[in-house]
Amino acid sequence: MSVLSVLRQVLADKACFLCGEESALPICQRCASSFRACDPGWSDGHLAAGPASGFSAYWYEGTLRQAILQMKVRGEYQLAGQLSGMLASLAEALPLGDRPVFVPVPRFGARDERDVRHFPHVACRMLSADFKGDSGSGLLLKTRRTPLQTQLSDMKRLKNVDGVFELSSNAAGELRGRTVVIVDDVLTTGATVCAATNIILQARPHQCLYLTLARSRATIRSGF
Ligand SMILES: [Zn+2]
Repeated sequence: MSVLSVLRQVLADKACFLCGEESALPICQRCASSFRACDPGWSDGHLAAGPASGFSAYWYEGTLRQAILQMKVRGEYQLAGQLSGMLASLAEALPLGDRPVFVPVPRFGARDERDVRHFPHVACRMLSADFKGDSGSGLLLKTRRTPLQTQLSDMKRLKNVDGVFELSSNAAGELRGRTVVIVDDVLTTGATVCAATNIILQARPHQCLYLTLARSRATIRSGF
């Protein structure tokens, strides 16, 4: 093997996934600092898709959109840890109550809470440690495989997630009276978090919020 090809291999392990510049982290400082944070306070009020309210960290555009697509579509889950850390550090300022339970929006068939290849699971583990709360991995289940929401029209997104979630047998006991925070990567129409919220509310939590890494500017809000 030539010196050059060895050098390339070494550099490839330490290159930013987005710009290719040398970086110890998967996303270099320059790319990470170009993510555009949502307004102070983050709050989305209420979504037209249903009775959910909560917070999103960044706008789903530019370098962050590129990072999320690389992670979700191309399976580059090395990015999940760093992105989760960025979400968790912004979330520190949020009023998430006492010992919240962080529930990942699940994948179909995945019940393993150690799932390191799935952003919502990775983020929930990090958030529950930071907030001295609990990880609610495995409490919300997905009952069927669905196409990626980003590939569908608004109406199809609502249909796509209709009846798609259910609670695990121990969820009611774990969630009753607690602050529950549903965690996902992207909020687009809000159809997914609203469907998840509707199911979580059956467990009679104290309150149910959502927390997403990114939010589309096209998110439809009700009234205000
Ligand atoms: Zn970069």
